[in-house]
Amino acid sequence: MFDYDLVVVGSANADLVIGVERRPAAGETVLGSDLAVHPGGKGANQAVAAARLGARTALVARVGDDPHGRLLLDSLSSSGVDTAAVAAGGAPTGVALITVDPSGDNSIVVSPGANGRLAPEDARAAERVLRSAPVVSAQLEIPLETVTEAVRLLAPGTRFVLNPSPPRELSAELLAACDPLIVNEHEARVIAGGGPLGDSPEEWARALLALGPRSVVVTLGAEGAVTAEAAGRAGSGDPSAAGRAGSAEGAEAAESAPPGVEVTRVPSVRVDAVDTTGAGDAFTAALAWRLGLGESLPAAAAYAARVGAAAVTREGAQASYPTAEEVAAL
Ligand code: ATP
Repeated sequence: MFDYDLVVVGSANADLVIGVERRPAAGETVLGSDLAVHPGGKGANQAVAAARLGARTALVARVGDDPHGRLLLDSLSSSGVDTAAVAAGGAPTGVALITVDPSGDNSIVVSPGANGRLAPEDARAAERVLRSAPVVSAQLEIPLETVTEAVRLLAPGTRFVLNPSPPRELSAELLAACDPLIVNEHEARVIAGGGPLGDSPEEWARALLALGPRSVVVTLGAEGAVTAEAAGRAGSGDPSAAGRAGSAEGAEAAESAPPGVEVTRVPSVRVDAVDTTGAGDAFTAALAWRLGLGESLPAAAAYAARVGAAAVTREGAQASYPTAEEVAAL
């Protein structure tokens, strides 16, 4: 029995948001709305999304020893995320300065702060936590060497899920650990290093799989997602868990896959999108959690697509994340 269903390694930011009539040009000062402070960062977003769904979740992260850091720790705890492995100090808490104009376009400056100081030794200090879940997920708003160290510390059989955002080229070692690598189109192109990806999302997924990850998920916003993995693995999840989810329906094996690779199209759920911020983080967290429950990759992706769809129906990132009951009702 594991202590957690999911452990997330990643960033935690304070998002400082000001509404403006017009975003300032160079050298210009504009007056804006009252400041709104929201908890954010891809790591914290993933952890909160999973906890909201009912997963026992821990976050491995670093915040500053400052008011923003304490705010983030409080909000993580009140969302049900275990913060014992969130270190404090070394630099100010990571901050995103966001100005948003009436059309919804924004300008963002990110100061990684403490996220950039989350070091391999922090991963080593969190080894017990990293070995206490069936699945560990990460993103790239923290140093790459810390993600690599976390992977090296995992117990045999622990599944590692990576959303390489913001994207960078990955080492062969890190790619080989991903199960799955979860990317949108932009991330797919960076990971492929400018190499040919093909003309369809199914071809992108196959091209990425050839780079070494054990499986791949390409997310397509309102168009859903595509999964790819070695043939025979798709059905390898615990069938009772997949049945409980009842959510693989609609996921169809694409016909054009070459032998040896199973490519599955996961349709999206039609919703009225209000704000897509943080949908990718909710999708990744939900997928990782469901894989840990023993679901197949297509079934877990189908569930995650429902979570992503629910998240875009409400404003904000963490504030938009649904409970399992809300996902079921969608
Ligand atoms: P982010 O903007 O958070 O970085 P992303 O580009 O990583 O997002 P998306 O592909 O936008 O990820 O969204 C992740 C998943 O959420 C999609 O694969 C889809 O299942 C769901 N989703 C996103 N937008 C919509 C939408 N407008 N309608 C329905 N489902 C959506």
